[in-house]
Order: sequence, then C-alpha cells, then structure tokens
Amino acid sequence: MTAEHARLPGTGTVGSRTALLVVDVQNDFCPGGSLATAGGDRVASAIAEHLDRHAEEHDLVVATRDWHEDPGDHWSPDPDFHDSWPVHCAADTPGAAFHPALEPHLPRLDAIFHKGRFEAAYSGFEGHLAQEGQRTVGTGGAGLADWLREHGVSRVRICGIATDHCVRATALDAVAAGFDTEVLLGLTSAVGAESAATAVEQMRAAGATLSGSPVIPAG
Ligand SMILES: [Zn+2]
Repeated sequence: MTAEHARLPGTGTVGSRTALLVVDVQNDFCPGGSLATAGGDRVASAIAEHLDRHAEEHDLVVATRDWHEDPGDHWSPDPDFHDSWPVHCAADTPGAAFHPALEPHLPRLDAIFHKGRFEAAYSGFEGHLAQEGQRTVGTGGAGLADWLREHGVSRVRICGIATDHCVRATALDAVAAGFDTEVLLGLTSAVGAESAATAVEQMRAAGATLSGSPVIPAG
C-alpha cells in the first residue's frame, strides 16, 4: 500500500485524486421514464460530452444507480413526490438502465454503485459497489466513501439527476465524509424549480463548491 492509498479511519481522506460522480443518469429519470426530470436527456448528453472533453480532469469516473427490488413505501400507487414516488428503477429493467447517451462511456467507468435495494436511498454514499471496471461484484460490495478513500480520492465532482434529490443528498454526504466537493450544477437536472433553488442553497451552506445552474423544468 503506497502512502497515496493509505486509508484513515473516520471521515479523513488521503490522496489527491479527483473522481467524477455521475449520479442516477437512468432512463426512468429522463423524458419517457416513470419519474422523469424534464431536462434529463439533455443532461445525459451534456455529461457524455463532458466525459469526452474533460477526461484528463478526472482520475476516476464513478456512476451510481437507483436500483430497487422492494423499496417499501418509497414506491407508491398514490405518490406524494416528496417521500413516495411512482414505481421507478426496478433492478434489471430498462428504466433502471443508464441513459443511452452514456452507452459509449460505460466501458471506462471505474465503478458502479447501486443503492436502494430494499429501502429509499437518495445519496450515492448509501450505495454499495456493484461493478468495478468490467467485473460484477454482486450485492453487499464496499460503500462509496470507503471505496473512494481506498483509491486515493480527496476531491469529488458531482453531476447527474436529480439536482433537488439524489445529487443534493450525494453532495451533502460527500462534504460530511470530508471530500472536497464540487457540484457541476449545469450537468444536473431538477424535478422542480423551487426545490432546486433550496437544494442549491443547502449544498452551498454545507460547503460544496457550485458551478453553473441546474436544468429546471420550463414554466
Ligand atoms: Zn428510488
């Protein structure tokens, strides 16, 4: 183990590597999906372009997926769109798959984390390693914070869906875990304009660096 990859207990980070975290860019969160954000497809394409143009800025690229088997009342036939939601991202269904715009980039993902198998899970830091490179890990893999520390990551850049839910929760947890956290808001899409504005303020107040503006629904 090199010094760069040494691991500290608790919330400390060691190392100087940067990871791009691509949060939940899945078909169900894009137009045509069961829980679509209006700008989800535009953001998926913009993230793909970002991966092309800025590859050298990220030592690692990690994606998360909402991946439900039986998430209890997170799914509801009568959702309130706050704590309960229409059925979405059922494991191994097309709705849970990455948006097609990301398809050409999948081979270069260093890891994929799945979250929410049996419960609601908004933050990528609630997820478990499901795939590392081309190797399928199965259930019960490492948590995201430990995995990042083990790979010498001290800085994370976050993009994806949705600004006001899973991006927000992932960013707040990244800050709390001690990572230098930047949210690329221009590469995020929101469920609602008001909740996006609240989320932006919460992420700023927590200490995340923010750049750009989220894609919010028209009107
Ligand atoms: Zn979910």
